[in-house]
Amino acid sequence: MDLLNNRVAVVTGGGRGIGASIARFFAQQGAHVAVVSRNLSSCQKVADALNSEGFQANAYAVDVADSQAVATFGKQVTSDFGKVDILVNNAGITRDTLLLRMSEEDWDLVIDTNLKGAFLMAKSLQRPLMKSPCGRIINISSVIGLVGNPGQANYASSKAGLLGLTKSLARELASRKVTCNAIAPGFISTDMTQSLSEKQMEGILSQIPLKTIGKPEDIAQLALFLASDAAAYITGQTLACDGGMTM
Ligand code: NAP
Repeated sequence: MDLLNNRVAVVTGGGRGIGASIARFFAQQGAHVAVVSRNLSSCQKVADALNSEGFQANAYAVDVADSQAVATFGKQVTSDFGKVDILVNNAGITRDTLLLRMSEEDWDLVIDTNLKGAFLMAKSLQRPLMKSPCGRIINISSVIGLVGNPGQANYASSKAGLLGLTKSLARELASRKVTCNAIAPGFISTDMTQSLSEKQMEGILSQIPLKTIGKPEDIAQLALFLASDAAAYITGQTLACDGGMTM
């Protein structure tokens, strides 16, 4: 089945973890994927692997927090592929520490990457997305944006902000049939969650009714559904994929 046949998808943070899995699921369903990450090495590796399997992917090293770089990328990717149908704002970082120790730099870096980055990407790709008959914006938020977490004031604020951005863009772009939805993953096994101690992991598992940590593929399946025609009548929503943590 080719759910995304010939659609062009931009996936930020596609070099590793959840983003790499989304890029793969989209490519396997016929999409041409622009894989974006900070470092060329990681997005190139993902694009090369997809191309070697007969799928279509290009790699782009772009800092999503850099407005000039994102504007240049928007023009480049539209010219390379001729159009853009799907934007997945997945690039994200953490700089965890308690408020007492959180520096302005910790705050700015996380907000600029996780929230401003999504705004800049949507702005830069707005025109091609509006021209698409099946435009989609999918923002990867987090359960932390829904419930907060000690030591993550910056991260939680960025992810909660993404939900406001999602609903506003959903309303703003609805007349052009562009949908905009958010996914709120729970704890997913990636580099981002590798540094957790055994004790922290036990504490997390005790809060998950399904008693297991999620996989990048769990989020990629949901992103694929939201990108597909099956989700054409869903917009402005936040879908949690968290093993039941936030029910
Ligand atoms: P990850 O394994 O740490 O990968 C993050 C990706 O984002 C990397 O490809 C990285 O690029 C890219 N990136 C970071 N800063 C960037 C920037 N300024 N410009 C462009 N790309 C940038 O993260 P993950 O766990 O897959 O998380 C993906 C998204 O899901 C994030 O938004 C995260 O907040 C969210 N999320 C994750 C979890 C979880 O449990 N893992 C839970 C909830 C939400 P490089 O490869 O070049 O470094």
